[in-house]
Amino acid sequence: MKVDWNRRACARHGHVTYAPDEATLRERLRTETRLGAAWRCLRCGDFTLGAPAGSGPADQAPLVPRGKVLRDLLLLRFLAFERAVRGVFIVLAAAAVWKFSNSQDSVRRLFDEYLDVFRPVFRHFHYDLDHSPVVDTIQKSFGYKHSTLVLVAVLLLAYALIEIVEAVGLWYAKRWAEYLTVVATAAFLPLEVYELTEHVSWLKIGTLVLNILAVLYIALAKRLFGLRGGHRAFEAERRSDSLLEVADTAGVR
Ligand SMILES: [Zn+2]
Repeated sequence: MKVDWNRRACARHGHVTYAPDEATLRERLRTETRLGAAWRCLRCGDFTLGAPAGSGPADQAPLVPRGKVLRDLLLLRFLAFERAVRGVFIVLAAAAVWKFSNSQDSVRRLFDEYLDVFRPVFRHFHYDLDHSPVVDTIQKSFGYKHSTLVLVAVLLLAYALIEIVEAVGLWYAKRWAEYLTVVATAAFLPLEVYELTEHVSWLKIGTLVLNILAVLYIALAKRLFGLRGGHRAFEAERRSDSLLEVADTAGVR
């Protein structure tokens, strides 16, 4: 099924109408109906009744993302959202590690008390808590040095910051954010692959696949690093797709 991104965006945000000062151009975007003047939407191309939302010289008209450009914009917003969620979770993890580093002893005491309470219960079900991998991992973490934990918290916070900066930049379709996302995501790929060799989980595989796709997609669709003609080709594509531009070239002919 082919999704009409233009109509979808118009249904959510309303049509974008504009009256250019240039008379020939204006006539191409305007039509007279029994109910009054109607203006052509710069995004979906439908005529809508009522006064235009804006007016002025044609080159001052809003550059409305439509078609493929609009679809790319929405996909990047999805990535921005995914990164914002991940960023918030990592901040929480950093805060937890930080808190733990300051109260390691009391947490250990509490944990041991719980372990004493639950040991008989688990033994009843033939489960040996003292040799459980989860308990083992937690007990090992009590042995970590305070400085190690602080370092882990700081690194997590730095990683979260990168994710959040990416999220904000991608949401507003900033080109630097696209570069940052591609570079930072690609830089972490070897670590993600290494993680998988240690322990395989579907979440890790999913994250790795999503990140590889994101790197390839952003670099190619946004023509980063001079790919497919680079920035100039990207701007040209954005403009050539604008309906005002289409009307303009039609008017010249
Ligand atoms: Zn529309």
